[in-house]
Amino acid sequence: MKRKWWLLGGCLVLIALLAGGVWWRQSRPNTIARPARHNRVQRQDASATSVKEVKATPWLKLKQPLKLPILMYHSISSGNQLRVPKKQFTAEMAYLKQHHYRTLTTAEAIRALTTNTVPQKKVVWITLDDAYKDNLTNGLPALEKYNLHATINVITGFTHKTNHLSLAQMKEMKATGHVDFASHTVQHLNLDELTATQQKQELVKSKQLLDSQLDQNTKMLCYPAGRANATTHRLAKQSGYQIALTTQEGFATMKQGRYNLSRLRVTPGMTTATFADLIAVTNR
Ligand SMILES: [Zn+2]
Repeated sequence: MKRKWWLLGGCLVLIALLAGGVWWRQSRPNTIARPARHNRVQRQDASATSVKEVKATPWLKLKQPLKLPILMYHSISSGNQLRVPKKQFTAEMAYLKQHHYRTLTTAEAIRALTTNTVPQKKVVWITLDDAYKDNLTNGLPALEKYNLHATINVITGFTHKTNHLSLAQMKEMKATGHVDFASHTVQHLNLDELTATQQKQELVKSKQLLDSQLDQNTKMLCYPAGRANATTHRLAKQSGYQIALTTQEGFATMKQGRYNLSRLRVTPGMTTATFADLIAVTNR
């Protein structure tokens, strides 16, 4: 008899322990895991919203065709009419920052021109032709200091020259996020004096080098000395470029033709007031 009662008692204790264990396992997620899960859901929601917001950042649709100021620089040094001294360049970058200009990337400039929209009212596109080494030593510090962006037009056959940026330097500059690179052909020849076959080589080979070396799809072409003809425009399109820049003076508008866009030349000795007038435009 004693043994029977002992067994029964043992069974009851066991049942109580099992029931207690089940209760404890059920109650634990309710008290500990639930708030954690709740937080996780909240975090997911927050990140989903922010991604959506970035994607859906609305650009302003303009009523009138966009007039885009595209600045044209070359070397950031002194010595001739094509060179803008470092001090002047830095002052101009400071002006853009202080006056809340948005400096467009190539992709943003293409989007702005082709959709007639802008990320904000005051926009400017900074371009530097020929890819001089001083763009890195004298230009990049100002871009970084004022958090601005510029596009450098590369002569791909010149990347081994002492005064020009090497491919390694271009990669270094691209990695900063303050610079992107477009084509200024292979040899910097007047395209309108070449045969169609020669022109095609200049357009295609420079694009291929930039695409492969900088891991990008090069969408902009800048004509050496601004020289181009109808064949150049046709071949630029055929080669995969979406827009092309000239040296004609003025704001860029799509009315000029997407392979014939004007720019604003920045000259040495230009005062900041003249610079301000040069880029002042009302886009509505
Ligand atoms: Zn050039």
